[in-house]
Amino acid sequence: MNNSEFRLPSAEGEAQRYSEFYIDPHIHMTARTTYDYIIMRESGIVATIEPAFWLGQPRTHVGTFQDYFNSLVGWERFRASQFGIQHYCTIGINPKEANNEALAEAVMELLPLYVCKEGVVAIGEIGYDDQTPAEDKYFRRQLELAKELDMLVLIHTPHRNKKAGTSRSMDACVEHGLDPARVIIDHNNEETVREVLDRGFWAAFTIYPQTKMGNARMVEIVKQHGCDRIIVDSSADWGMSDPLAVPKTAQLMRERGIPETYVRAVCYENALAAYSQSGQIQETDWLASDAIDQRQMFNGNSVLRGQEPTVRSSRECILIE
Ligand SMILES: [Zn+2]
Repeated sequence: MNNSEFRLPSAEGEAQRYSEFYIDPHIHMTARTTYDYIIMRESGIVATIEPAFWLGQPRTHVGTFQDYFNSLVGWERFRASQFGIQHYCTIGINPKEANNEALAEAVMELLPLYVCKEGVVAIGEIGYDDQTPAEDKYFRRQLELAKELDMLVLIHTPHRNKKAGTSRSMDACVEHGLDPARVIIDHNNEETVREVLDRGFWAAFTIYPQTKMGNARMVEIVKQHGCDRIIVDSSADWGMSDPLAVPKTAQLMRERGIPETYVRAVCYENALAAYSQSGQIQETDWLASDAIDQRQMFNGNSVLRGQEPTVRSSRECILIE
């Protein structure tokens, strides 16, 4: 596959369309392809945050968690950089796998080794799935860890009993003394957004085809609630999802008359403001990023599979042409 096949159209209108930068602050790139990185960068995505989550099949050994965390702070970060995208992550034990208590206990011991590594912007995604006692136990243990280490928290709200589960997640954060301004509540919808904003938390929305939120609904939410503390993400993973959900939603917002300042806030600035509180992500990371040089290696491996490496200066990376 040759990168040059995926260059942006040079027509002026097209260049204008892609002139903005975007952040996708919730995407599971481990499950995505290199082609996704290429089209994401071409669509203006300059930074991604990859929360630790479950892989579709329960893990049975703590070692697989350790290797997964290593890949989030290691290979995946490197792979993204090779396509001009800055990669950050959150580390935690997800609610679903917290139900295997013996395993969850072992993962809890690993967390302090990983949450302070470079590029880790929060503890997450944590919270409730079925709202079981075990989920509650490990959610709260991780909130305590966040409190102790003064870290941000990313919360996954449940798909079932969402409204109650979202309220309960925020209650737990407050009970553990966390500042709502340092907690991002994700997978919101029309039912949850008002309470999340009123209580001072960040409200993230996952644009996920057919289930969580479509982007036409997202446009209406911004029309109704404005742009303060609202964040758009894709949560693209191994399921039916769209790694271009953020730029596509931005485009739809513009077409439907949302002011440019709002679009920029919900698709770029708010994610940066929320997560830069970690001290691990800042705009200069991509504005002054190193050139793409696919001859680079990570632990002796490059992203190349025998292809010619792409080598571009950082100026060429910033100018999307
Ligand atoms: Zn996720």
